[in-house]
Amino acid sequence: MKKIGILGSTGSVGKQALQIIENNLDKFQIIFLTANTNADLLLEQSKKFKPKFICINDKNKKDYLSKSLNQTKLFFGKEGILELCNNQEVDLILNSIVGYHGLEPTLQIINSGIDIALSNKESIVQAGHIVIPLAKKNDVNIFPVDSEHSALWQCLIGEDSKTIKKIILTASGGPFRKLNENEFHKITKSEALNHPNWSMGEKISIDSATMMNKGFELIETKWLFDINVDKIEIVVHPQSIVHSMIEFIDGSIKAQLSDPDMRIPIQFALSYPHRYEIKNINFNVNNFLKLSFEPVNLKKFKCIKLAYDAIKLGGSYPVVLNVANDLLVELFLNEKILFNMIPKYIEKTMNSHHVIKNPTIQEISEITKWTENYIKEMVKI
Ligand code: MG
Repeated sequence: MKKIGILGSTGSVGKQALQIIENNLDKFQIIFLTANTNADLLLEQSKKFKPKFICINDKNKKDYLSKSLNQTKLFFGKEGILELCNNQEVDLILNSIVGYHGLEPTLQIINSGIDIALSNKESIVQAGHIVIPLAKKNDVNIFPVDSEHSALWQCLIGEDSKTIKKIILTASGGPFRKLNENEFHKITKSEALNHPNWSMGEKISIDSATMMNKGFELIETKWLFDINVDKIEIVVHPQSIVHSMIEFIDGSIKAQLSDPDMRIPIQFALSYPHRYEIKNINFNVNNFLKLSFEPVNLKKFKCIKLAYDAIKLGGSYPVVLNVANDLLVELFLNEKILFNMIPKYIEKTMNSHHVIKNPTIQEISEITKWTENYIKEMVKI
């Protein structure tokens, strides 16, 4: 029985993870669940899975939850989340917190020596230079939940990573692959949320529409697989069947394919080294007789270019990229800024910040605060 804690259990990945666990109750046990603000769903999940602990980040919901709980102990706030990240009863913690607030929990889990199924890619984007060496030092496994990185991980099973020649990271191209960039300022929230292939949370859906998501995944790939960004090629693959590929030094290429269904990578991150059956997945090759690939347009999707620049310049650049993007996506979702302003504002923020070469955790937190203030000033809200 694998004992699991989930950070962000009411989000898209958290909910799918619980579905997987519900279908495999002989293999997994939930020890704790945490949520940001959705107290009602957390309560419902708590009644169903009977975790020992739950935590709500929003302290206003504390009284409401505590009235309704019997056996389950309630934690609240960031302190509560961090305390649960040090719970030695669990074998694995799924970090599916959205955005830059996921970093501190990631570091706490690694410091506690607990394996992590990582859905919070922002942890790696902004602090890969700290997270990855720390995980190595503490002998902690980071199992990627992202479908592309799950694909790369699966392709590498039984291989020597020194024999990688090139990584080909696939991208669906998002909902605006065919739209002229002159039209980008007209894009509405509902158009941007309407991803052609994947069903995901709001933040990552917008990141997919701007293609910043692929930029983040480029940075994530560099750190998770210890590979130079020059050896990572992004290619648009509109069907989202090939989830990424590895070319080895002998010219052989391995790819992982499946229906675009997040249950597959989420479950593999939880079940590794085992594979368990997932019902209702019926890949039909006849539906995909033409798999196509096309180059990515960096002029149109400026966010990818910004991510390339940020990781090449290194230091504090990826922190600013990540935090600025989080805040601007939220502003777009609240209909305060236009879609095409997201990369423009990120670029301006990156160019205006005071560069730090090898930021410590303390410095990352200072840069985060600076970026929050800078964006508030710039967007004037
Ligand atoms: Mg992905």
